[in-house]
Amino acid sequence: MQIGYYALSLFAGPLIAGAVAAIAWKRAITPVGRLLAVLMGSVFVWSLAAAFEAAEPERAAKVLLSKFEYVGIAMVPVLMFLFALQFLRSGRKLHRDLQALLWVVPAITIVLAFTNEWHGLIWSGFKPAAGTGEHLLLYAHGTWFWVHAGFSYALLSVATVFLILAYFRFKGIYRRQAAALMLAFPLPWIGNAVYLAGLAGADKGYDFTPVGFAFSGLFLLWAIFRLQLVDLIPVARERVIESMGESLLILDPAGRLAATNPSARKLMAEVGGPAEIVSEAKLLGRSASELFPGWPGLAEALGTPTASIREFPLVKDDRPHYFDLRLSPLLGQGDLVTGWVAVLYDITRLKNAETAAVEARKIAETLREAGLTLSSKLDFKQISALILELLKRVIPYDIGAFLTVEEAELRLAAIKRPADVRNLIGETYPVAGSRLCNMAVQMKRPLISPIKSPEDILLPLRPDQEVRSFLGVPIVFRDRVTGLIALYNFGPRDFTEADAQVAELFASQVAIAMDNSRRVEQMEKQAERDQLTGLYNRRGFAPLGEKEVGRARRYRRPLSLILFDIDHFKTVNDSHGHLIGDHVLEVLTRLVGKTTRATDLVCRYGGEEFIVLMPEANREEGLAMAERLRQEISRMTVVTAVSTLSLTVSLGVAALRPEEEDNLESLIARADRAMYMAKAAGRDTVRG
Ligand code: GH3
Ligand code: MG
Ligand code: MG
Repeated sequence: MQIGYYALSLFAGPLIAGAVAAIAWKRAITPVGRLLAVLMGSVFVWSLAAAFEAAEPERAAKVLLSKFEYVGIAMVPVLMFLFALQFLRSGRKLHRDLQALLWVVPAITIVLAFTNEWHGLIWSGFKPAAGTGEHLLLYAHGTWFWVHAGFSYALLSVATVFLILAYFRFKGIYRRQAAALMLAFPLPWIGNAVYLAGLAGADKGYDFTPVGFAFSGLFLLWAIFRLQLVDLIPVARERVIESMGESLLILDPAGRLAATNPSARKLMAEVGGPAEIVSEAKLLGRSASELFPGWPGLAEALGTPTASIREFPLVKDDRPHYFDLRLSPLLGQGDLVTGWVAVLYDITRLKNAETAAVEARKIAETLREAGLTLSSKLDFKQISALILELLKRVIPYDIGAFLTVEEAELRLAAIKRPADVRNLIGETYPVAGSRLCNMAVQMKRPLISPIKSPEDILLPLRPDQEVRSFLGVPIVFRDRVTGLIALYNFGPRDFTEADAQVAELFASQVAIAMDNSRRVEQMEKQAERDQLTGLYNRRGFAPLGEKEVGRARRYRRPLSLILFDIDHFKTVNDSHGHLIGDHVLEVLTRLVGKTTRATDLVCRYGGEEFIVLMPEANREEGLAMAERLRQEISRMTVVTAVSTLSLTVSLGVAALRPEEEDNLESLIARADRAMYMAKAAGRDTVRG
């Protein structure tokens, strides 16, 4: 086998085509890129067979190799056409049936090439070329060859037009891609045309088509690396507008519709727009008020367009949706306004997120405030009244009750409802009386429930109106349920999980406030009472005594006061010890309690000095009571381990004198003086 320069040069074709095919296939990320790889693969087959054909001396082998050449020759024009088309259409493929149709001619060509011996439709004859020093064969062409050639050139012409269109339509890198393709594609066909025209040594058997491909391949290689030919494809603007989620409207200067997209048409349909929504053409020229009849705010803004960004709410499916309308002028020559571009963005999600954030902040603030307010109050009544007020700021409800849990009973501490008919504060109800309240108390967690029967509702709260949903919030302190907030709604709003969460946070603050107030109450009680006897001390007695004196004076009622002191109590302590002395004081207290009336106030005024304040008792009754006390006490015996004790007291009585400016203090002072007189008179006696 002898290889001439021509044949040798032909091997550049498959080398370059093979490399480009491999690189394009590897880098391609789009169907267009892969199509280029397949195209170069076909060129590879063609040019490889052509190179071997030129180098092969044997005629039979040469013809066989030519047949293989035809596999590439037949396919390349169709692939080029498809590539140019897809490039222009930004990757959109031709319909399957049309594609199949394109392959009919190449298929016939390949079949005919391999069966040429029987019909000569591709090649009608062969004769060796003379005078080249190589083994070139001249092919005379049959009828089908010209069909194939015509078809191929037609496809290539159209493909070239596609590339020219792409060049003008695209911008930037895409335009440069189109230019590179426009240069790359025609090269081999120039070579081929020269061959077919019998020019440039074609009569000697030279065919420069494959050489042309080698140059095309170099161009494409450059385009692949420098212009990202196979991994970037142009995106058609119209398609973006068609498929974008935002609604787009182009208006003429008078505010009539000039163009729109499906998203905008969908919106029109939702607000009762024209019936011909599906077709853009039928909507053109209409005014905004015709297009968006159910959305007057937007229609007005579009009808009198100004460059602006505004928000328009729209109620869809019972929920508010929000749209941002951006209106900008379309400027023509000389900055003349030739129309308006209106873009509507659905900002509902953004808006809802914003609202939720504001809501959450409001709730957090209210809860913090509620915590501060509640913790600043130590009086249980005040707390009770506040709880339902504060809660209403974060959870809307129709009826609310705050109850304390006492054993198996709920005590109503505060109530809030549309029409408060009577005061129920302080009334108690069995926990088991309300199924839902009971459940919430048992669970120690908030409970949301629809209301199915009146039994679900706590008795005092059963209203005339139908109650729809319930939220029970137990107030838990150190794992003990100390109270319950029961909320009811008439609807349409049902309580939500979010409400329950807020309520639980709130309840934890209520629990602390309740505990604080309970502690303070206890401390205050302790401060008002004497530890040894449990009687009022001076501090506890003073306000109550003053109240009684005030009332007696106001209503001109009698009142008297006894002050007594144990006689020689020091000796009891001295001879029996302080413990026995204390015990004696306790026994004496019990005796005084038994002797006096329930309405009398008894106070341990000093160490072993006592006061008995008797409302409704005049001076005589006061003296009589003092005498009774004296006798009872003198008869009292205290049995101890070693002996039996008895003692006496000296008593002073003072009665309210309507004619004098009497008060508790002056009464005590008079009784004290009388008591000293009793002491002076020898003790164990009454003075007044
Ligand atoms: P008199 O009143 O008859 O003049 O003589 P007295 O010994 O009772 O004198 P006074 O009332 O002045 O004394 C009070 C005594 O009572 C002094 C103190 O030892 C005793 N005492 C006061 N408070 C208590 C107490 O809480 N427990 C005991 N054990 N003794 C007390
Ligand atoms: Mg004394
Ligand atoms: Mg005494």
